[in-house]
Amino acid sequence: MPELPEVEVTRLSFASRIANAQVREIHVGKPLRWPLGVGLAGGAAEAVNALEGAQVQGVRRRGKYLLVDLVSSARPSLLIIHLGMSGSLRFDKNLPPAGKHDHFSMQTTHGELRLHDPRRFGAVIFAYSENESWPRKLLAGLGVEPLTDDFRPDAFHIALRARSAPIKQVLLAGDIVVGVGNIYASEALFLAGIRPTLAANKLSKPRTAKLHAAIVRVLQAAVNLGGSTLRDFSSAAGEGGYFQLQANVYGREGQACRLCGSQVKMIRQGQRSTFYCASCQNNLRTTDAIELQNQTLFNCTVASTSTNTSSEGSMRETCTTVLTTPSGQNKMRTRL
Ligand SMILES: [Zn+2]
Repeated sequence: MPELPEVEVTRLSFASRIANAQVREIHVGKPLRWPLGVGLAGGAAEAVNALEGAQVQGVRRRGKYLLVDLVSSARPSLLIIHLGMSGSLRFDKNLPPAGKHDHFSMQTTHGELRLHDPRRFGAVIFAYSENESWPRKLLAGLGVEPLTDDFRPDAFHIALRARSAPIKQVLLAGDIVVGVGNIYASEALFLAGIRPTLAANKLSKPRTAKLHAAIVRVLQAAVNLGGSTLRDFSSAAGEGGYFQLQANVYGREGQACRLCGSQVKMIRQGQRSTFYCASCQNNLRTTDAIELQNQTLFNCTVASTSTNTSSEGSMRETCTTVLTTPSGQNKMRTRL
């Protein structure tokens, strides 16, 4: 399932290229999770009519929703896009002919925006404003954005104090902070040295601050690396992640913890797999658990040798590789 970093990488890969484009034609394929014209009196026909001829103003992201702002005859509107379980967007001129899993297409003067979604849990919804009932239903309950200044340690601590559920599940719920999905929740809790089963209201202020920092670092690192390539993923420019990311704990049940060598454990929490190291994530330990500054996020190896010439150079930033020397000491190496 595309998570926040993948959605943000998707946004970065086409937002500047589609800005100011004029919509020429809309094509809707097989039904998606919700229809294009959901909530509109005139249904899909009204949406298509409003879209064609409209001008794209920009692309924002809220949680895992992409919001394409448009204006037509001075009337604002927006497209709300969700990638569901298996969706991906392409945006380019001269895309190959649409395949059987391409279920939405918007031809513009700058290129075609196309949703590829084999499982069809994704959606593209038209609305005139975020305040209409459908957009509100999707967006109003979302927590703060973790990669903005709105995400603050103090407010995070206050919000967690009101929750007695395990911290991992509180993070996944997304109503305090959005975008900390299953992989990133496990990784952030590992970095912060916090057991995933700990009740959220038991986190001290210093440990909450540590978790806050870990969430920001994990998500920002994944965005910088072009989205997590733990699964297949490609941006709207058709590029896969540039590095093969290897998580510290996620998907590593039974393997040695990269930090202490203990076996990584896997448990089920609310139908989802949680991975953690019982030694590093010990609830009895306090703020000295792990020093974030010295902690490695992901081990990275170059997955593709192709010379990517993305129009969004910011997607390619540094990737820190840990090399373990025979003496067992970690050497840090930075590569582009
Ligand atoms: Zn460990």
